[in-house]
Amino acid sequence: MKKDLFELKEAIKEKARQLGFTLAGFTSADPPESYPFFREWVAAGRHAGMGYLASERNLARRADLKAILPECASVLVVAAPYDPPDPDAPGVAAYARGDDYHDVLIPRLQEIAAFIEEQAGEPVPCRWYTDTGPILERDLAQRAGLGWIGKNSMLINPQAGSYFLLAELLIGLELPPDEPFTTDHCGSCTRCLQACPTACIRDDRTLEAGRCISYLTIENKGEIPLELRGLVGEWQFGCDVCQQVCPWNRFAPDHGDPELAPRPGIPPEEPAVELGLTPQEFNRKFKGSPVKRAKRRGYLRNTSVVLGNLGDGESVKPLAAALRDDEPLVRAHAAWALGQIGEEGANAVLRLALAMEEDETVASEIRQALGE
Ligand code: SF4
Ligand code: SF4
Repeated sequence: MKKDLFELKEAIKEKARQLGFTLAGFTSADPPESYPFFREWVAAGRHAGMGYLASERNLARRADLKAILPECASVLVVAAPYDPPDPDAPGVAAYARGDDYHDVLIPRLQEIAAFIEEQAGEPVPCRWYTDTGPILERDLAQRAGLGWIGKNSMLINPQAGSYFLLAELLIGLELPPDEPFTTDHCGSCTRCLQACPTACIRDDRTLEAGRCISYLTIENKGEIPLELRGLVGEWQFGCDVCQQVCPWNRFAPDHGDPELAPRPGIPPEEPAVELGLTPQEFNRKFKGSPVKRAKRRGYLRNTSVVLGNLGDGESVKPLAAALRDDEPLVRAHAAWALGQIGEEGANAVLRLALAMEEDETVASEIRQALGE
């Protein structure tokens, strides 16, 4: 080892800052304290359709970092800010408006790993994650001194708010840990609980994932439950409400990392236009964007729900076209949206579609939309 461990730790943090990580801290490889709590949350089924959270293999890895990297002796937790949401242009969660953060942040973590080896003067086993692996990253971030876990379940930093992405480097080298963040600055505030459109924030700082708009519009691969569609509002992909109302986000920087800057056209000025995206156009538009995770069928499902909530008669034509989409999921939600618009033109389109529809689930949606 060429360097003193304290010096090495500071040099690594400085390297992280140079690479655009505005927050950086170290913690030990001890098991995350909230693991038993996470396990209970999963056992209660609050993870909804995210089966990967409940697999025994992933649970074992979440319980013990050494199940991922046997040599793990410390963890570097870093954060990269993204532009705060634009209140005049809702629709796509702020973190998802630019290039895919995995593509942006992972090469930086790899660069830090290479730097550690170079500084240590010997091989150092490392593993990197940014929402890509089974680790309880907010728990580690709190322990590394980056902030506290708020009532909205986000990690909040008193100087930077919560508009940032977390990333971690598991390191096979024992580096001195930073002081954990032990204060809770939520106090008596309940703004996020009151503002959440679907009331899915629980009193124990966890979410009922199956009701959260972020889940419903991204990880959920099936229908959006009828009773929740109206509450999705104008969100086509993700939701920022519980962060937008958080008073600590007045300290968020005005601009995030330039490599995560919003792309033009996300969110679209006219959501209805998105219903015309062919599979090829969807792939081209969202290549290298987090939005691709919803896939075209999920994105058009969400877009239909948004148009239903906006209730504009101008949307009847694009929704009528969506009623002929190859994907039953899109047709079903387009039918619901037309039912919400409820004009004579919309009903005529629905009646025509019902005569042609072969999928019983879609036909049932059309009948409901017609009030039958
Ligand atoms: Fe509620 Fe939206 Fe926050 Fe989910 S992301 S908890 S729906 S405010
Ligand atoms: Fe905590 Fe209030 Fe922010 Fe919710 S809105 S996370 S209660 S400070």
